[in-house]
Amino acid sequence: MSKKYLILGAGPAGLTVACSLLKKGIKDITVLERAEEAGGLCRSVDADGRPLDIGGGHFLDVRRPAVDEFLFEYMPMDEWDRYERDSRIVVNDNVIGSPIEANIWQMKLEDQVEYLKAIAVAGCNLGTKMPEKFTDWIFWKLGSKVAEDYMIPYNQKMFGENLDLLGTYWLEKLPNVSFEETLLSCLTKKPYGTQPGHAEFFYPKKYGYGEVWLRMAQSLGDRIKYNEPAVSIDLDKKIVNDKYEADVIISTVPWKSFKSIKGLSEEAMKGIDTLLSSSVVIEYFPEMLDTKAQWIYYPDSELSYHRILVRHNFCPDSKGYWTETNLTRFEEKNNGKHFADSDKSGKASYINDYAYPLNTIGKPETMKKLLEEAASKNVIGLGRWGEHQHYNSDLVVELAMKLAQRLD
Ligand SMILES: Cc1cc2nc3c(=O)[nH]c(=O)nc-3n(C[C@H](O)[C@H](O)[C@H](O)COP(=O)(O)OP(=O)(O)OC[C@H]3O[C@@H](n4cnc5c(N)ncnc54)[C@H](O)[C@@H]3O)c2cc1C
Repeated sequence: MSKKYLILGAGPAGLTVACSLLKKGIKDITVLERAEEAGGLCRSVDADGRPLDIGGGHFLDVRRPAVDEFLFEYMPMDEWDRYERDSRIVVNDNVIGSPIEANIWQMKLEDQVEYLKAIAVAGCNLGTKMPEKFTDWIFWKLGSKVAEDYMIPYNQKMFGENLDLLGTYWLEKLPNVSFEETLLSCLTKKPYGTQPGHAEFFYPKKYGYGEVWLRMAQSLGDRIKYNEPAVSIDLDKKIVNDKYEADVIISTVPWKSFKSIKGLSEEAMKGIDTLLSSSVVIEYFPEMLDTKAQWIYYPDSELSYHRILVRHNFCPDSKGYWTETNLTRFEEKNNGKHFADSDKSGKASYINDYAYPLNTIGKPETMKKLLEEAASKNVIGLGRWGEHQHYNSDLVVELAMKLAQRLD
């Protein structure tokens, strides 16, 4: 007889593992979701007649064919458009491509000289040891100009003020461009080095990014219990909210979102207390922008938002754009007040309390201990929050598919 599965959270991770188990013939699956619909950070709503992705700009990277194939089973490929990435950075009156270190050649000539001089004497080019703090690493890898004009203010705007808490173990996510490649790009006027993610991506033709997850949720029927937050978990008894029992629990929700956890050691519980995250607010504006970019990064600390998503450049027949702003900065701007989800002027705003898991120093050890201990009790942490990892949705789907393959 197959086991009884309880899945916490109906975002991409929870939905993928649930759908994959179902495809294997495992039917005894219950999913608890705190919201009234599925999709998590990848949800969309209608704003001003077209979709708005309420968790921020969301695109499906083409790099994982098995993931695309899986998602196309729920929303066929001909319902998606394929785009080449066009993203920009506005820095010191220069509007250049991303990543900055591969596109310095697009700056004013006098700026190119200053940036190159700073990169030439960055620690990594002088052979000094790689530092352990993220902020120190930025200076070490990219030099003082890129650090002070872009990386430090941008990351502060996105993650919050205290960047000193962040480590460097996650930086393989960032593009890697050497000084030689930056120099070569300035001499030949084209980018060199590894490019960032989403170089090519899919976005739905008629819908927002949320549609595919809604269709997956539909295939699960009443196995998903909406408006049902998991508030307590007992790992020994494998019971959630004193009501839902299972043989295996797969948790994709933030560990800090439980009000009560039983069955973990004191060390693991203390580890949970150290996990940090930041929140993001999405605001929609109906104006058209004069740019071909799909999104633009703004390190300028005078502006509260850090990124703009130009909806009319990736969502057919739409207008307007939306901004992404760290919740703390947003509250400062509005004196602590939020405006309603949607107001009469056509603007709209949405708050995502759990947006970015922060890669603090010591987090890998904390999560390893926590996940191993939980797994020994058949409680498996999965996805952006279950693993507290800065994962994109394509990776989350891949990991969830692989997990389901191992389960019986
Ligand atoms: C601004 C921004 C931009 C991004 N851009 C991209 C992009 O372009 N491409 C991309 O692939 N990825 C992108 N991502 C990442 C993407 O959002 C995540 O990879 C994906 O949503 C992770 O899925 P998940 O299921 O692990 O988590 P989530 O999507 O967060 O889903 C978790 C689910 O659990 C529910 N939940 C939370 N607490 C509880 C509880 N206690 N009980 C029950 N349910 C609960 C939530 O409501 C949610 O439905 C972006 C993220 C952000 C913040």
